[in-house]
Amino acid sequence: MSELVFFSGTMDCGKSTLALQIGHNRSARGLQGVIFTRDDRAGEGRLSSRLGLVTDAVEADETMDLYAYLVAHLSRGARADYVIVDEAQFLAPAQIDQLARIVDDLELDVFAFGITTDFRTHLFPGSRRLIELADRIESLQVEALCWCGARATHNARTVGGEMVVEGAQVVVGDVNQAQGEVGYEVLCRRHHLRRMTSATAQAGALSPDVLPVPREART
Ligand SMILES: [Zn+2]
Repeated sequence: MSELVFFSGTMDCGKSTLALQIGHNRSARGLQGVIFTRDDRAGEGRLSSRLGLVTDAVEADETMDLYAYLVAHLSRGARADYVIVDEAQFLAPAQIDQLARIVDDLELDVFAFGITTDFRTHLFPGSRRLIELADRIESLQVEALCWCGARATHNARTVGGEMVVEGAQVVVGDVNQAQGEVGYEVLCRRHHLRRMTSATAQAGALSPDVLPVPREART
């Protein structure tokens, strides 16, 4: 039985590395996959991991019908034994339905990798639909850590190291960005709620004014 599997985790938890590893393991057994991605850090049509691995991928823009793409691919006589989707949180809900149809009608395994929640702790629409439709959800075991050492469960968006809570759901950026740029940092829930990034924690440690409660709760 083929299945739709959602591998979920925070940013920086090794999702793309695992996506590449799954592809590698299958190609070592002579299987061929179709890899979709969206807005990868290495640019359009690439799937890259933080460990430096990269492979070609099909850029799944918001207008693409992924099921129709696979049907056209197979009817050209090209091979597809499985499908990998990276950055699946960025897909539209309708595209997740198309992935389910690839599993059910074409009988291919689909492995989707994505972040569950955005920088405001809300589900991405693509991830919500995956949670609704997936046969299996795997929470990734390669755990990212907050600056405090606790398990990082939430994604923070930062500008110049300070956490922001306003803005569009999707702004492409990466962890460890330079000053002034939009970046991301993974935090434990406690420090996400307190809006304490590694930069503000460091600044706070130097200040005699630091209190273990958020600023707004002190008045
Ligand atoms: Zn923490």
